[in-house]
Amino acid sequence: VEDAVNLQAPEDDAYEVTRVAPFLSHMPTLTPEAEVAVLARALHREGFADHNNGHITVLQEDGSFLVTPFEFPWDEVCPGDIMRMDSEGKTLAGRWTITDAIELHLEVHRERRDVVVAVHNHPHYTTVWAAAGRVPEPFDQLSAMVDDDDVLIYSDYAGPVSSKVAAKSNVKAMGSKHIALLQNHGAFVLGTSISETYFRCIALEWRSRLAWEVAALGGGSAVKPEARVGLSTIVRQLGGSIPGWWEAAVRREIRRDSSLAP
Ligand SMILES: [Zn+2]
Repeated sequence: VEDAVNLQAPEDDAYEVTRVAPFLSHMPTLTPEAEVAVLARALHREGFADHNNGHITVLQEDGSFLVTPFEFPWDEVCPGDIMRMDSEGKTLAGRWTITDAIELHLEVHRERRDVVVAVHNHPHYTTVWAAAGRVPEPFDQLSAMVDDDDVLIYSDYAGPVSSKVAAKSNVKAMGSKHIALLQNHGAFVLGTSISETYFRCIALEWRSRLAWEVAALGGGSAVKPEARVGLSTIVRQLGGSIPGWWEAAVRREIRRDSSLAP
């Protein structure tokens, strides 16, 4: 299978999409609840896996939100476990619990009309850099697809994320950024679609792991600034993700558990 886009840099370093091959999407149909369950399971495989200490919210067309239940780690959540809530966090449907820690999500959805998907978890390598209060440098192509200007270190995290005051302050500090490294805590990743947010989460944790491994070897040369701009621009032009990544995740999860598909 050919890549949809040639991401190699031309000789003059003027990064641009030099070839666009047709990308044939192969995407099984999912219910909205199954989409959230697949996102949770797929992100769990990518390191968003701190037991049941994470939450995903996805804005629906009717203004309500689908949200992962408090009771389950993301690798075992099923479509029937996904909760529906209103913009105040009140349960509209579902048999489980919506965590009090959802306040950060409620605040971001109130303040940011561009945000459709919000993901919070404590992915290991991202949390290492968050603990250190540093944004990891990009050392490869995927890492550089995270826009440096899109990442915030949020160092004022204090105590429970259920605090409305803390949530307001956090969302305000983010401005229009899509990634916050919550110091001594974890990651908060936002997006305009599930596929974009899935890709952003993967790229963030990948970048964090690679930077850690390069540091462990004694250091290396980070991707040059102009190349970073080029790569993050390409991803933006492609709709926020390399084509096919989310589709592959959906197929992979359904292959493992056919009950995810209707
Ligand atoms: Zn947390």
